[in-house]
Amino acid sequence: MTTPVIVLKNTFGYDTFRPLQREVIENVLARRDTLAVMPTGGGKSLCYQIPAMLLPGLTVVVSPLIALMKDQVEQLRAVGVPALFLNSTLSPQDYAENMDAVRRGEVKLLYVAPETLLTPRIFGLLDSAQVDLLTIDEAHCISEWGHDFRPEYRQLVEVRRRFPQGVCLALTATATLRVRADIKASLGFSQSNEFVASFNRENLYIEVAPKRDPIKQTVRFLERFKDQSGIIYCFSRKQVDELAAYLSQKGFSVRPYHAGLEDDERRRNQEDFIRDDAQIMVATIAFGMGINKPNVRFILHYDLPKSIEGYYQEIGRAGRDGLPAFCLLLYNYSDVAKQRYFIDQKEGDERRVAIQHLDAIVRYAEDEINCRRKPLLAYFGEQYTTPKCNNCDNCTAAAPVLIDITLPAQKFLSCVKRTGERFGAGHVVDVLRGSKGEKVLKWEHDKLSTYGIGADLTEKQWMHLARQLVQMGYLDQGGEYHTLSLTDKAMDALRKRSPIMGQLQEAEERPSNREARRTELDYNATLFGLLRQKRKELADAAEVPPYVIFSDKTLVEMAAYFPQSLETLLEISGVGQVKLRQYGEAFLEVIRPFCEQKGLQERPRLRASSEGKGDRGEGSRRFVAVGEAYNEGESIEDLMAAYAVTVGTILDHLMRYAAAGNRLRDGDDLRAMITTPVDKQEAALAAFNELGAAYLKPVFDKLEGGVNYDELKLLRLVYLASQAG
Ligand code: ADP
Ligand code: ZN
Repeated sequence: MTTPVIVLKNTFGYDTFRPLQREVIENVLARRDTLAVMPTGGGKSLCYQIPAMLLPGLTVVVSPLIALMKDQVEQLRAVGVPALFLNSTLSPQDYAENMDAVRRGEVKLLYVAPETLLTPRIFGLLDSAQVDLLTIDEAHCISEWGHDFRPEYRQLVEVRRRFPQGVCLALTATATLRVRADIKASLGFSQSNEFVASFNRENLYIEVAPKRDPIKQTVRFLERFKDQSGIIYCFSRKQVDELAAYLSQKGFSVRPYHAGLEDDERRRNQEDFIRDDAQIMVATIAFGMGINKPNVRFILHYDLPKSIEGYYQEIGRAGRDGLPAFCLLLYNYSDVAKQRYFIDQKEGDERRVAIQHLDAIVRYAEDEINCRRKPLLAYFGEQYTTPKCNNCDNCTAAAPVLIDITLPAQKFLSCVKRTGERFGAGHVVDVLRGSKGEKVLKWEHDKLSTYGIGADLTEKQWMHLARQLVQMGYLDQGGEYHTLSLTDKAMDALRKRSPIMGQLQEAEERPSNREARRTELDYNATLFGLLRQKRKELADAAEVPPYVIFSDKTLVEMAAYFPQSLETLLEISGVGQVKLRQYGEAFLEVIRPFCEQKGLQERPRLRASSEGKGDRGEGSRRFVAVGEAYNEGESIEDLMAAYAVTVGTILDHLMRYAAAGNRLRDGDDLRAMITTPVDKQEAALAAFNELGAAYLKPVFDKLEGGVNYDELKLLRLVYLASQAG
C-alpha cells in the first residue's frame, strides 16, 4: 500500500515532512474539510499534491495566480505526476485537448482559475469526472477582510456544493484570525479542522542596518552573493530605474521591474529572473506575487517598507528551498519623513491606518535590542518565546559594551523638559547642538540653558542615544510627530542623579561585523558551480526554469555528499524516482570525474540530518571546508561569494583551519589584501616569529599599535602560510 511518506520520497524525493504537512494530508485523506495556514515557502503545495496521488479520482486546484499554473504543472510533470491546467492563456486547441485528457481520466491534478471553474463548460466536464478533492489556493481571496478580496471567490461556495462527495482543502498564507474565521464560515468548515503553522522562517537571517551610503552598501551586500538570485525592493519606479541602471553599469546582472514598464518588458524581465538568466531583480513591491522561485538567496530593502505585513511578505520570498537566505533592510529617518509626506496627502481613516503601519515598522527598525522575530511574529498573532534566535542582527550582535552615559543622558532629558515635551528627537538634538535652524529660532530655543551644550556629540550619536532612552523607558514617544516626553523613571533619574548605563556610538562607525549563524552544509563550491551549469543546460533544452530540474538544495547536497551511483543519488533530498531516471546519469557524469580528479570520496548521507534542525551542527566544521577549498586554489573572493560571508569570516575560518594544525597555501591573494607599508609588515612578521601567533595582543603592543588588528589578522595568516611552506 502506498502512504503519504512513500509518495513524499518516491515522487518528490524528500525524506521528512515540513511542519503540519503530514497532519493536513492525513486530515484530507480522512475526507475532512480542512483549512491550512502556512507561511510562504511552508510547503502548501504538497498538502494537496500528495493526497491527489493517493485519491482515486481527480483533484481540482483553484488558484487566482494564472501565471503560476504553468510553472506548477511543469514541476509536477517533471516528477511524473499527470497534471494540466485550464485558463485563458491557453489556445482554444490546447484548451480542448486538455479537456479531453481530463475526460479520459488521464489527469490527477487539474489547475483552474476561479473564473474558468465557474463556466458551464467546466461544470459539465467536472460533473462527468470524479472530483475527490477541491483545493482552494490563496483562500484569503474569499474574505473581504483579506488584502486581496476577489468576488469570484465567493462563488466557490456554490462549486463546493456541486461536489458534495469531494473533500475541500483551503490554503492560505494570511494568518489573521478574522480572515481565517471568514474562510471557514464561507465554506462551511468546522472549527476543529484548522491547521496553522508557525510563521517563523528559521532560515532567514534578518538584519536592519543604518542607511548611510545606500549605493555603496548595496554593492557591498551584492558582492556576497555572486551568481545567486535576489530581489532589491525600492520605494519608487524612478528609484528602481536608477538603481538598476547603476548596478548594471557596475557589471551586475540586473533587471528592473515596476508597473510603469511595458507588459512585454516586464514579463521578459521576470522570465529572465526565474530562469537564472538574470540574477538580481530591482523592483517595486509590484514584483513577487506569483513568483515561485525557490532559490532566492537575498532580499534587500533599499527603502523602508510601508508596513510590517508587506515587509514580512517580501522577505518571505527568500529561501523557500529551506537554505539560508539573507534579508537586509536599510533604514534612516529621512525615508520615514519621505513616507510621511506621501501619507499626509491622504485623508481620514486611510491616513490614520497608514501612520499606524509606518509607526510599527519604524519601531521595528529602530529596535536594537530585541530579537527581530519577536515583533514580526507578534504582528501575526504569534508569540515567539525563544530568547535568542541566533539568526538576526540583534541576536548575533556582540554583547554591547555598556558605559556610563549619565552625563549626555541628563543633557538630553533636560533638553526634552526645557523644550516643553512637545518635540521629536530631531528638534531636541538641534537645540543641544546649538543649531541656528528656523524652527529653533522661531521657538526661541536658542535662549534655553540647554542650547548648545551638546556640541561634543554628532547628530547621529544623539539620535542613537535618544532611541536608547526610549527603549530603556526614560522617554515616551507618541503621537503623529513622535513627540518625546519624560517618564516617571526619567524624572526620578534626574532628581536623584542616578547613573545611566548604555552605549555611545562611535562618531565614525565602522561597518559592523555581525555575522549570520550558518546553517547549511559544507559543500564544494566548485562542484556546485558545475552542477548549476549542467542544470541550466538541461533546463534550457526543456524550456523550463532551472528549479524544475532540481532545487539548489538538491545540488548543494550533491556537492556535499558526492554520490557516485544512482542508488546513492536517490538518497539526496529532492531526487525522486522519475527525476533519477531522467537526470541521474547527467549529473553523475559531472560528479564522478570531478571527484576522481580531486580525490574526493562519496560521503554517507544521514537521513535524520537532512532537513531542518539537523543541519545545524555542520557549521562548526565549516572552517575545514573553507581551508581545503582555499588550499585547492579558490580565491578569497570566490570563497566569500560561495559562503555568502564577509572577508573577515573567511579569514577567521582560515585561521581556525591553520590553528587546527593544517598547512595553508602560501597565497599571493592574502598578501595583496594587506595595506600596511612593507617595513611595518616585516616588523609584524618578525614579531609573530618572536612572540608566536596564538594571540594578537602581544604583537599589537610590541608594534605600539602601529598596525591595526584587521591587518594583524591578515599578517598572521601570511606568517602561518610561510611557516608551513
Ligand atoms: P508555499 O506554497 O507554501 O509557498 P511550496 O509548496 O511552493 O510553498 O514549497 C516551497 C518549496 O519547498 C518547494 O520548492 C517545495 O518543493 C519544497 N518543499 C515542500 N515540502 C518539502 C519537504 N517536506 N521537504 C523538502 N522540501 C519541501
Ligand atoms: Zn533574533
